[in-house]
Amino acid sequence: MSVYVFGHKVPDSDSIVGAIAIAYLKNQVEKEEYIPARQGDISAETEFILNKFGGELPILKTSVAGERVYLVDDSDSLLFQDDIREATILGITDHHKLGDLTTNAPLEMWVRPIGCSNTVVYEMYQSYGVEIPKNIAGMMMMAILSDTVIFKSPTCTKVDTKAVKELAKIAGIEDYKALGMEMFIVKSAVDDSSVRELNTRDYKAFDMNGSMVGVNQLEMIDISALDDRKEEIFKDMRDLKEEKGLHTFLVLLTDIMKEGSQLLCVSDDISKIEKAFGKAMKGDEVWLPGVLSRKKQVIPVVRPQF
Ligand code: MN
Ligand code: MN
Repeated sequence: MSVYVFGHKVPDSDSIVGAIAIAYLKNQVEKEEYIPARQGDISAETEFILNKFGGELPILKTSVAGERVYLVDDSDSLLFQDDIREATILGITDHHKLGDLTTNAPLEMWVRPIGCSNTVVYEMYQSYGVEIPKNIAGMMMMAILSDTVIFKSPTCTKVDTKAVKELAKIAGIEDYKALGMEMFIVKSAVDDSSVRELNTRDYKAFDMNGSMVGVNQLEMIDISALDDRKEEIFKDMRDLKEEKGLHTFLVLLTDIMKEGSQLLCVSDDISKIEKAFGKAMKGDEVWLPGVLSRKKQVIPVVRPQF
């Protein structure tokens, strides 16, 4: 029986590349067949990576009841298909806080507080002594550059930068930072996107002590490209908050050059968010200098307010 490897809903590059890289590794060392999968459509950024390195698009898997699965890039049930609890989880590779999923049988876990799941995958390859194919190395390198915002994110560690350098060598890429910038230019494109697409591009839901909090993040080279669409974005945020039954919906417009985020907030109690960051909102938004990481700088300060 095959094992499906996949990452969180609204898949990012770490989720997609992680599935590809783990499946390849497992297929070298285990008898079962591991199949890379995904829970949704890929982003323009991920498409750029797959095209650049000749990666195959993982299969779409929207139901996993009764299946054997291997998870990458999260372990929280809210970020997987509704029937995830009916699947058998064989392993988890991740770099987030521990989620609420559990298992009936022993499993393997490769979880570390570093910049990217693919850095953990890199360590898995080393641990198993398996050579990383050139194209997979290139994709893993890009996933790490994406998750660490080309090393600028406070989540980035020396382990991540070292992995990128090693992977770049294997992939034959000299100027990996330039390629990373090229990727972020692709990621920053907003002109052809509907406001709903923007508000759900990198959406995650969190259960904070019974209150549902949605957080979407747009990482861009210049967030002023969205200045004249703010009103439209806020209107759709209010609609989405109602549709999803959220207590709070946050949108982080992360400017990777200015190294900070404009936080847009629609909430039943905006004071919780003001308290979380120790800042008063101007209208329903506030600039948060130095804030680049949702997992490290946003969720850990918002969660204790609930
Ligand atoms: Mn991710
Ligand atoms: Mn990640």
